[in-house]
Amino acid sequence: MNFDYTPEQQSLREAVSALGRRYGHAYFVQKSKTGGHTEQLWAEGGKLGYLGVSIPTEYGGGGGGITELAIVCEELAAAGCPLLLLVVSPAIGATVIAKHGTTAQKERFLPSLADGSLKMSFAITEPEAGSNAHRLTTMARQDGDDWVISGRKCFISGIEQAPYMLVVARTGEGKRLNPALFVVPTDAEGLTKSQLDMEIVAPEKQWLLYFDEVRVSGDALIGGSTEAGLPALFSGLNPERITVAATGIGTARYALERASSYVASRSVWGRPIGSHQGVAHPLAHAAIQVELARLMITKAATLYDAGRDVEAGIAANMAKYASSEAATVAVDTAIQVHGGNGMTTEYGVATLLGGVRAGRIAPVSREMILNFVAQHVLGQEKSY
Ligand SMILES: Cc1cc2nc3c(=O)[nH]c(=O)nc-3n(C[C@H](O)[C@H](O)[C@H](O)COP(=O)(O)OP(=O)(O)OC[C@H]3O[C@@H](n4cnc5c(N)ncnc54)[C@H](O)[C@@H]3O)c2cc1C
Repeated sequence: MNFDYTPEQQSLREAVSALGRRYGHAYFVQKSKTGGHTEQLWAEGGKLGYLGVSIPTEYGGGGGGITELAIVCEELAAAGCPLLLLVVSPAIGATVIAKHGTTAQKERFLPSLADGSLKMSFAITEPEAGSNAHRLTTMARQDGDDWVISGRKCFISGIEQAPYMLVVARTGEGKRLNPALFVVPTDAEGLTKSQLDMEIVAPEKQWLLYFDEVRVSGDALIGGSTEAGLPALFSGLNPERITVAATGIGTARYALERASSYVASRSVWGRPIGSHQGVAHPLAHAAIQVELARLMITKAATLYDAGRDVEAGIAANMAKYASSEAATVAVDTAIQVHGGNGMTTEYGVATLLGGVRAGRIAPVSREMILNFVAQHVLGQEKSY
């Protein structure tokens, strides 16, 4: 057993951290609050090869795995720049296409996903189906060589920045979902987008999407076959959970770093407030939760990169659960130890709250992970 990163992973971590810190949380907040996007940071990350670390080298990527992409997510977040689009574009979009796309799809999309010039959203959630993917009703019907998609999706992130999205749709009736995945342009005819008002400080917005007979050509179908849909969808889920978890832990590290320096310098009773155990212990507790979650993320990413998908599935769910709980505790504690300053924009911790809180709901809620663990690890019967 080895808990060390390789020298390459360590240099990646340091380099990404340096990039993130050059922009920092004030940049992230300013862009997010003014309806802007973190374009410069994204473009630089793309140019330096960080966004494409997990994409095969033959398509312009770094040839690494989800371990490397998780490092990128964590370090940018630890610098105060948690980017949700890293999760949907390289982690889901690029992984699905690299593993299950046709050669033409790989050649068309992977190089620009690798250098960051293309962003891709991911659309599975529907208003009626919620956590129950078997109830998805968005339907793709074949019409000659084309596919025609009708239905609704909700909470879809980053549509305002992404020219394409991966859409999960049914191709037939039936109780069990037999999904197919399509690459759909976000300006397609028949697609209506409506932005949701969210209480999250982030450059990515969430959208309600209405597909009214949206027509795409046959080559939009991932893998060129409806049979490719289920394995393609599953190949994206573990990277999604692992990178969300890494982003959460990076955010938690950022909050704890801010809090630690604040309590070491703030003095109310003639000594730093960090010397009071009532202040220091909650921070220490959060730091332990964060480190435990980081270990689980490393395990999940290692298993995933080793192709041990079943074990990776369990570890990725546990890592995502542990991370979102730890990140929520860390950010909440960081706010508390800042007193009133904790609620200001200037001190840059309350601005993290919406993001980490959403991490307990998306992309899979803590309750659905507990269901998964109860069934698949503890052998309990399913209640739903
Ligand atoms: C910020 C944000 C970004 C998002 N981005 C995307 C995106 O890019 N693409 C995308 O497709 N989706 C996205 N989502 C949607 C997200 O994946 C869903 O919100 C999530 O899967 C939960 O589904 P729901 O909101 O329909 O909740 P519901 O399914 O309605 O659940 C409501 C509550 O009931 C609980 N619950 C439901 N069923 C059970 C059960 N059987 N046992 C115990 N508890 C249960 C849930 O845990 C939850 O607490 C995003 C959501 C947010 C908040």
